[in-house]
Formats: sequence, structure tokens, C-alpha cells
Amino acid sequence: MKVLVAVKRVVDANVKVRVKADESDVELSNVKMSINPFCEIAVEAALQLKESGQASEVIAVSVGPDVCQEQLRTALAMGADRAVLIKTGNDLEPLAIAKLLYTVTQREEPGIVLLGKQSIDGDNNQTGQMLSALMGSAQGTFASQINVVGDWVNVIREVDGGLETRSLRLPAVITADLRLNEPRYASLPNIMKAKKKPLEVIDASDLGVDIAPRLKVIKVSAPPERKAGIRVNSVQELVEKLKNEAGVI
Ligand code: AMP
Repeated sequence: MKVLVAVKRVVDANVKVRVKADESDVELSNVKMSINPFCEIAVEAALQLKESGQASEVIAVSVGPDVCQEQLRTALAMGADRAVLIKTGNDLEPLAIAKLLYTVTQREEPGIVLLGKQSIDGDNNQTGQMLSALMGSAQGTFASQINVVGDWVNVIREVDGGLETRSLRLPAVITADLRLNEPRYASLPNIMKAKKKPLEVIDASDLGVDIAPRLKVIKVSAPPERKAGIRVNSVQELVEKLKNEAGVI
């Protein structure tokens, strides 16, 4: 069984994101970029499926400009067997990404498609769900545990009330939540080896998919600055202020 894992290039989670002066977007020039953290977890899950003998091949796929090859090389250094970049210009919407990923699933016919539950830049939380609809397959989102049993995969999902276990018939789409695993670091020898692993580049315009935008960003603005707090000298003073100034008790 092949496992396809979708990897998105995003601003590194440790970077303090700044809004552009014209409020059209966030500043991306000279900013450190990385694999979306939830996609790293998805890559780790795919590698564990291969190491346990349940998957035969792990294929990392990214949609975006040429520079996304950096993140695909990281996935290869972690242990993926090969990678596919679907080359596009601008940032695409989740539906367009899902349609492009769908073309790869049609070609590769993976048993499991793993994605992150969400990208930390757009916070969309849509691509996996849309992809599963296009594939007509089962979906297990927010996965914190995955267990393949024959033609089925049991997924423990993190839901509001606790944990939900679902059995999905393969092929299935699974999106990774934070507690699924701790992604491995790529070792230096593996980073070197990854440079020789196959990375195929496909131009999105050759796939005959409608990726025209359906949304328009009107404005991007920074959250309001938090006002400084005050220090009180006693519990009595705190209670007095909460009662008479804040009016919350
Ligand atoms: P989103 O729906 O944007 O929150 O993204 C959820 C997941 O979809 C990500 O964690 C990725 O696994 C996948 N995904 C989103 N955008 C891309 C992209 N440009 N290339 C590859 N995978 C993507």
C-alpha cells in the first residue's frame, strides 16, 4: 500500500509574523519557511506505517512554487521515498489544492492519504475534508492514533467531548492532530541522501484543473495590542477593583 502525504510550506512556527504596510498580506520576504508542523506529524505517521510493514512506499507531495522543493527535501530526509511538486504560482485556496492533490491520488492510487489537520498560516482546516469528498473516500480528521487492520484503518479522533474511534475503509484520508506522534529530526547523512531521492515536478497548468480563485482577501491586519496590566498590593484591592472598576464580580 502506498501512502501519500501532503506537505505545505509555511512561515516557520517560531517566526513573529508581521503584516505588510499596505495590509494586503503578511510579510513573506526574508522570512524563515518550514514544513507546516501538522504536515510534519503526517510525514512521521506515514513513515511509521512503512516501518511497521503496513505501507510499501511513502510519497510526499506539495503544491506551490519551486521553493517548496526545500520542504519536500526535508520530508525525503525524514524518510519519504520520493516526492512530487505540483508547481503553481500564487497561494491557492484549499479547494484548488484539494483538486490538484486529487489528480495525484488518481495516478498513484494510495491506500492512505495523510495531511495535516490544518495549515498554521491560513488556519483553513479544509483541504483534507475536500480531498476526501473528491475521492469519494472515508475521512478521519484530527487523528491522534492510526491502526491499519486489513482493508480498514481505525482512527482515534480528538473531538470536543474526548476521543472518538472510527473504522474507515481504505482508501481513506486522514488528517493529523498534534498528539499523533513526535516527528523525527532528519539526520545529516539522511539530509545528504535525500538530495538524490526522486523529486518530480509537474506544472499545475498541465493537469487541466480549474484552480481559479473564489475568494478575495480584502484586508489583513494585526491583532490589537494588549493594554499593559496593573499590579495590585493585596487581595482586598484586587477584589475591590474587580467589583467597582471592572464590574465583573
Ligand atoms: P488547510 O486546509 O489549508 O488548513 O491545510 C490542511 C492540510 O492540507 C495541510 O496540513 C497539508 O497537509 C495540506 N495542504 C494544504 N495546502 C497544501 C499545499 N499547498 N501543498 C500540499 N499540501 C497542502
